[in-house]
Amino acid sequence: MLKAVIYDLDDTLFPARSVPEEAARPMLTALREVLEGCGELKAARIADIMEQVWDRPLDEIARLHGLSAEVLDRLGGLFAGFRLNCELMPYPDIQIIEQVPGLRILVTTGFRRLQESKIECLGIAHYFDRIIVDALGEPERKGKQAIFREFLEACRLRPEEVVVLGDNPHSEIDAGNKLGIPTVQILRGRKQAAASASFHVEDLARFLRWLETRGMCPPSSPMSNGR
Ligand SMILES: [Mg+2]
Repeated sequence: MLKAVIYDLDDTLFPARSVPEEAARPMLTALREVLEGCGELKAARIADIMEQVWDRPLDEIARLHGLSAEVLDRLGGLFAGFRLNCELMPYPDIQIIEQVPGLRILVTTGFRRLQESKIECLGIAHYFDRIIVDALGEPERKGKQAIFREFLEACRLRPEEVVVLGDNPHSEIDAGNKLGIPTVQILRGRKQAAASASFHVEDLARFLRWLETRGMCPPSSPMSNGR
């Protein structure tokens, strides 16, 4: 039986690109200034990074583009100060997670103030038993794999009693796989299915159906005709 689900935040529970332009502008302007000012990057690469900043955590972007430690440091210093103060909306199916039995854990990678401000703006903290920020730029950062492992140990859970739900194959899906936790990739919008995820769903309703058909939670309705 299911004892816990570890949820990702960005593009799992809310569309990261839905942050209003005026709220994101100071952050994006400062990012562009650092990238243009560092003298390491061509314009096309800067444009790529400005696009990817919505879809991937900064450490992943840095790896992908070989950003120097110096640039990464400057970006870290810059992002560490940002928080959002605007209205954000979760995906409209958010309430379905109340029907999912067991502990609900939210683990999100990013800069602490920014991620915490997103959760505040979304008003979704009450859905979760625990919220953990895998905080970029903090010296004691553990990463998702260690966070998941410590959670299993602290709650004395076996990997098969837990499910990881997220969109990013290089982040939570990879971390879950390495610990033997079943991983479900949620494909919101135009996301590509990753072969590394154990399963794929389009939304939370299908996630719940998937748990039911695996016998991990009792059926919510005998007439349910989802997948
Ligand atoms: Mg995500």
